[in-house]
Amino acid sequence: MNRLFVIVAVGLILAVGFGCGSNEGPVNDGRLSIVATTGMVGDAVKEIAGDRVDLTVMMGPGVDPHLYKATKGDVDAINDADMIFYNGLYLEAKLTDIFEKMSGQKTVVAIGEAIDSSLLRFPAGAEGHPDPHVWFDLTLWQTAVGKVAEALAEQDAANAEYYRANAQAYFDTLSALDEWVQEQINRIPEQQRVLVTAHDAFEYFGRQYGIEVRGLQGISTVTEAGLQDITAMVDFLTDQKIKAVFVESSVPRKTIEAVVEGCRSRGHEVVVGGELFSDAMGEGGTPEGTFVGMVRHNVNTIVESLR
Ligand SMILES: [Zn+2]
Repeated sequence: MNRLFVIVAVGLILAVGFGCGSNEGPVNDGRLSIVATTGMVGDAVKEIAGDRVDLTVMMGPGVDPHLYKATKGDVDAINDADMIFYNGLYLEAKLTDIFEKMSGQKTVVAIGEAIDSSLLRFPAGAEGHPDPHVWFDLTLWQTAVGKVAEALAEQDAANAEYYRANAQAYFDTLSALDEWVQEQINRIPEQQRVLVTAHDAFEYFGRQYGIEVRGLQGISTVTEAGLQDITAMVDFLTDQKIKAVFVESSVPRKTIEAVVEGCRSRGHEVVVGGELFSDAMGEGGTPEGTFVGMVRHNVNTIVESLR
C-alpha cells in the first residue's frame, strides 16, 4: 500500500513538473511554424526538428503531388508559416506559383533543388523539367535532407546544434538503408530485375540500385496512359517473360489492370506484385507512414515478387 502510494506520488510530481515546463510561454513557445508538402519532405523535417517546431504536412496518404491543388486550409497554413519546405523540381506542379510568390515574404525551400543538376535526369518529353522523384536514390535524398537542416539552423540559430546532430544521425540511417536496398535488389535474378509501375517514379531508384524501370505514364501523372502505351507494355512483358507488375498507392490502378488483362489474353500470366508507395507515404502510425518504412516496404514487395 505504502509503496503504491509512493509510486503514484512520484508520478504526479513528474507529471506536474513536465506539465509546467511545456505550458510556459505563448501557444507555440516561439517555435517555428512549418509547412511541408509531401509526406517524404515532412518526414525529413520531423527527423531533424523533432518537436522543436510546429509541423503541418499538406499531403496525406494516397495523395498525388503532381495533381494536388492548395485547399483554403493550406493557403491559411502557408500564410501563417515561418518556413515552407517542398520537394521542388516541378513535383508539386500546381503549387509552384504560390511558393515562388511567397519566397519574397518568408523562407521557402525547395529541398530537391539542392541536388547538383548534373545528377538529375531530364527525360525526353518532359518539356525540360527534371525527374522530381529524387527520394528513391537515398544518396540524392541525403543532400535534400541536408538542405532541410541547413535552412532550419539558419532560421533558428538557438537550436542549430540540435538540428545538425539530428541531421547527422539521419544521414547515417539513410547510408545504412542505401546499403540494405542494394543487398536486397541483388537477390533478384539479373534477368528478372525489371520494375514495371503505373508511372515513372522509380527511375532514380533503378539507376542507383541496378534495376530496369518501366512506367506506363511518364514522370508526371498529368498525362494519362493511352492504349498505345498499354499495348507496348503488354508486348514488352510478354517478350521478356516478366512475372509481376506493381500498383502505386497514389495512382489509380486501372491502367496496370489493363496491362495484366492484356498479357493474359496473349497467354502470358502476370500478377500484380503488390502496392508500392511512390509519391505518398502510408498511413500515420504504420511502418509505411515513415520514409524509412516506406522504402523498406517497397523493396521487400519488389524482391518478394520478382525473385
Ligand atoms: Zn510521381
